[in-house]
Amino acid sequence: MRIDLSQILEGRCTTLEGSYSYTPGEDGVLLPDSITLRGPIAVRYRVTDNHGYLTMVIDAEVSYDTVCDRCLDPVSVTMPLALERLIETDSAVRLGDVEHDEDYEDSLLPLVNGGVDVDNEITEALVLNLPMYHLCREDCPGLCPKCGKRLADGDCGCSAKKEIDPRLAILQKLLEKHD
Ligand SMILES: [Zn+2]
Ligand SMILES: [Zn+2]
Repeated sequence: MRIDLSQILEGRCTTLEGSYSYTPGEDGVLLPDSITLRGPIAVRYRVTDNHGYLTMVIDAEVSYDTVCDRCLDPVSVTMPLALERLIETDSAVRLGDVEHDEDYEDSLLPLVNGGVDVDNEITEALVLNLPMYHLCREDCPGLCPKCGKRLADGDCGCSAKKEIDPRLAILQKLLEKHD
């Protein structure tokens, strides 16, 4: 969404706050297939004018569904995102010229027709901050490599079957028949 900054650019205020929500579209930064957003991304922002330098502080909250990397159980995650950007005003560009710092110039938020659009910045921050692994719980034992059963539900018996006492083998066969 485009945020209009004309009020602060014209010096009619020194701080500008607001909130909105957006859903990342297909024409923007793409999210990995492994996550599904539970709803739009909620955004709060505050732009502050420091003698011609406009800084923008963004707080976003993202909720998404994914699956446990070990047992494939559903996992829901709520992730806060915090970003801070300097807006590309004349003063900010002049400072960049003095410092000749490419990283600095890249970090500037471009000003388009007196406004900024931070949706892609936020989606990008989300992608960069996604955890490497999602687990339903820290000690998730995962799935049995033999039968695929969730080990958290209890022992599937695969590891025990081999060592079964021969005297109990007959009893086990009887039990299997009843199954
Ligand atoms: Zn799990
Ligand atoms: Zn098993």
